Amino acid sequence: MTSAHAENFTLEHYLRNAGGTFEDRFSEFRPFVDRVRGMGFVLREVTGAAGPVVGVRDDATGKGREVIMLGSNNYLGLADEPQIIEAAVAATRRYGIGCGGPPLLNGTTSLHRELEGRLAAFKKCESAMVFSSGYLANVGMLTGLMRRGDVLLYDEQSHASLIDGIQIGRIRSIPFAHNDTEDLRLGLEQLRLREPDRNVVVAVEGVYSMDGDIAALPRIAELCKTFGAWLALDDAHATGVLGATGRGSTEHFGIDGRVDVTMGSFSKVFASTGGFLCGSGALVDTLRFFARSYMFSASLAIPIVAAVIAGIDYLEAHPERPRQLRTNVEYFAASLRAVGFRIEPQTAIIPIMVPESVSVAEVVAALYRDGVFVNGIEYPAVPSNQGRLRISVMATLTTEHIDTCVAAIERVAGRFGFHPDQRDGVRC
Ligand code: PMP
Repeated sequence: MTSAHAENFTLEHYLRNAGGTFEDRFSEFRPFVDRVRGMGFVLREVTGAAGPVVGVRDDATGKGREVIMLGSNNYLGLADEPQIIEAAVAATRRYGIGCGGPPLLNGTTSLHRELEGRLAAFKKCESAMVFSSGYLANVGMLTGLMRRGDVLLYDEQSHASLIDGIQIGRIRSIPFAHNDTEDLRLGLEQLRLREPDRNVVVAVEGVYSMDGDIAALPRIAELCKTFGAWLALDDAHATGVLGATGRGSTEHFGIDGRVDVTMGSFSKVFASTGGFLCGSGALVDTLRFFARSYMFSASLAIPIVAAVIAGIDYLEAHPERPRQLRTNVEYFAASLRAVGFRIEPQTAIIPIMVPESVSVAEVVAALYRDGVFVNGIEYPAVPSNQGRLRISVMATLTTEHIDTCVAAIERVAGRFGFHPDQRDGVRC
């Protein structure tokens, strides 16, 4: 492969042209890996906690430096909160690192039970169950709940974990246009006309992970009630962010009790790993035996379980943190608007679209050189013409951090010719 070829080579190209032996494929892919890694687009080495400023190690020089973190979903800054770290350490001393087995056998400690109880209370549900990741919770929810003949209607911008759950469970599924309640209504109406007795589930996200927009949940819940469908809510990015006390989408809209099954992740506000499902006691008891990603996977490690319990304690004691997050988002958005970006973020995720003619990887690398760590999102996470910078705002960023970031974004966008003052290229 020539170097010009290597530069134009994308993941999409690789996925669409995967012929040949394994060795052929690996060597064809190598230039892509070397290029994006060398630029500092992926696999950047962070040397400390995911705070507002992180240490990173430069692969080329081996040297360390500090950058402002706009890439972590540690929205409330709990990753290095001393009391949470202490709780994880104390629990590990008592219970050890983990159980060495799945929850149904030897993998349920009193701490796992406590966490499930706390999550159910936090989400105002009867019962909750914990998975090793949010991804596995979504897969488990679909494969454990749906049987042959049941139908899933899902938002077209749903997370990959839902899409993979559909494929693994070979679930009959119909997408509807993103957050378009009229399209959903039509889908439900047609389904009910043709097949009135089907079990139907509608799957949406409280906050969509790519654009940070909020689902029209009250209307969606109403449609589910009208058409006798179940409502499944992925609240990964809403938990700890939306609602007066951070309980998520149903608190935000005042519709507790209107969702049949809620999924959450510990990889966002709880700054850890793991996920959960909650709903009725009967649902959870059933899923414990039918969700294979729960049944056949070892239970969550002790330090994580303890950290999430301590994270819930922290959230309950510090309602000012979600408020500070909202203040930071407003300040960040106003500062970006002041330099010409047309953005109206609804939550802690701020997308800045990059025109198709500009390489997202190069924009990310330039910002990184200028001291800002931001994630670039490309195909297959989004369609190839919707590449973007995806800013995750944290409550612990100071106004000085935000000012520095906005100045760097303005400078780099100008350099790449997608600043609105120079070209009408910025969309949101
Ligand atoms: N759902 C959504 C909407 C997500 O954004 C993510 C994580 N990116 C997941 C599910 C999967 O969560 P986890 O990271 O805990 O596997």
